[in-house]
Amino acid sequence: MGDPKGFLHVKRKVSGYRPVEERINDYSEVEEQLPDDERRAQASRCMDCGVPFCHWACPLANLMPEYQDRLFRGDWVGAWAILQEANPFPEFTGRVCPALCEASCVLGANDAPVTIRQNELAVIEKAFENGIVAPRPPKKRNKKKVAVIGGGPAGLSTAYFLNRQGFTVVVYEADRTVGGYLRYGIPNFKLNKDFIDRRVRLLEAEGVIFKTNTRVGGGHFAFGTTGGGAEVIDAKKLESEYDLILITIGARDARDLKAPGRELSGIVQALDFLSLQNRTLATEKDAFAPVNAFGKKVLVIGGGDTGSDCVGTANRQGAEKVTQVEVLPKPPEHRPSSQPWPLWPILFKTSSSHMEGCDRLWSVNTKAFTGGNGAVQAVNVCKVEWGTENGRPVSKEVAGSDFEIEADLVLLAMGFTHVVQEGLVADLGLAIDERGNIRTRGSFHTSNPKVWAAGDSRNGASLVCRAMADGKAAAEAIAKTL
Ligand SMILES: Cc1cc2nc3c(=O)[nH]c(=O)nc-3n(C[C@H](O)[C@H](O)[C@H](O)COP(=O)(O)OP(=O)(O)OC[C@H]3O[C@@H](n4cnc5c(N)ncnc54)[C@H](O)[C@@H]3O)c2cc1C
Ligand code: SF4
Repeated sequence: MGDPKGFLHVKRKVSGYRPVEERINDYSEVEEQLPDDERRAQASRCMDCGVPFCHWACPLANLMPEYQDRLFRGDWVGAWAILQEANPFPEFTGRVCPALCEASCVLGANDAPVTIRQNELAVIEKAFENGIVAPRPPKKRNKKKVAVIGGGPAGLSTAYFLNRQGFTVVVYEADRTVGGYLRYGIPNFKLNKDFIDRRVRLLEAEGVIFKTNTRVGGGHFAFGTTGGGAEVIDAKKLESEYDLILITIGARDARDLKAPGRELSGIVQALDFLSLQNRTLATEKDAFAPVNAFGKKVLVIGGGDTGSDCVGTANRQGAEKVTQVEVLPKPPEHRPSSQPWPLWPILFKTSSSHMEGCDRLWSVNTKAFTGGNGAVQAVNVCKVEWGTENGRPVSKEVAGSDFEIEADLVLLAMGFTHVVQEGLVADLGLAIDERGNIRTRGSFHTSNPKVWAAGDSRNGASLVCRAMADGKAAAEAIAKTL
């Protein structure tokens, strides 16, 4: 612990965002960086408490106090060495993680928490800047081969750890390039895709083999992918070629809203809208389909992070007006007693996208879509009141509260449910659980002993850090088993 009184004389300072009037005109990352001396001062706020709850809260079990100390002392290499032992890709989590760790920071119990996420990003970016992050291929290869189906953060994390231990890892990815939702969901203004390419080049140099445009198993596919155009390969064939198959295909079926008028044009799934924008920025050849918010009154249905990403994207495309509605009540601004420290609280959040212009409404339910000439023009909504019944939250329509929101583009951002890819599931004889995810027993085993599953495909839609942590734990278990 470099400065035992750091937390007493240094206040939390976040790096902040580029000015709205500037950032709204481009898709570059919105978040700025602090100068090195200020970053080190922020690291000095870590109290190196006896029980670091940040470590407990981080799914990747990052060693925060240890690398904050190195960072405070100006030992950037030492900080990176500690960070990268636990976290395979801090350049992703450092940009998009909601920082579960910060909600559990002991300093946060009485003061503002350490800026752990931004410190993490500073450490990894400094390591790249100084050329320290070099390929580390295994010294010796063993004879075992593992196929990873799906190149999102879970699959990439498993590939990273297994390859380093000498396993031959082949990643099969249905889309044109790997990254999963990192690439085709999360907007560029939160995560520049060059950082995914930079990491993939390293993985390739270390010996991971990528087969893109290659979809394993036929049948129904998911939103926001080009999987339909990929080469389809037989899952059974893989079973005979590899010692083990790990499925990391994500949870990619978007929830729909079955209200009257749903068939009107102009009602689009959020991921179709977001992935199209990312593909356009990547100049993918057939990405210029006409889902664009330019000059439109946009209504985003769903108050979560995907909805917020739609708000930021619609404003950048030149929407006339953006409104976001959520059926749940507005969350509290401060921790309620029912969500005490060090638990993760559900709080009111204003994202960088919300700051760029958006009307936000809570406790609003969608009843019908209306329009003319086959296209949506408005959405009928009503207010709801929330109560509990048998301990479960239930909503009730407020009589006479109906109103209309004008909208000629409606984006459905109500979350993702399950996996269901009949081809793959049937070919490999997998069981599906009651939530629609791939059922795993014990740790990662599916109903087929040779096939394991990790990430959102077994846990349901979650977070990048959780997908990476699951991929890491799967790699450890696979290495032990093989
Ligand atoms: C719009 C959006 C914004 C988000 N923002 C954040 C955020 O800010 N922070 C955060 O922590 N989390 C965020 N998330 C959630 C996070 O991105 C996911 O939890 C995470 O990417 C899941 O990782 P995964 O590897 O399990 O699956 P995915 O990222 O879904 O990757 C699965 C991969 O498998 C491929 N695939 C699927 N089927 C096949 C097949 N049959 N054959 C071959 N390949 C296949 C897919 O093409 C895809 O590349 C966001 C999600 C979305 C949709
Ligand atoms: S991965 Fe997320 S939870 Fe873990 S240390 Fe980084 S910011 Fe915190």
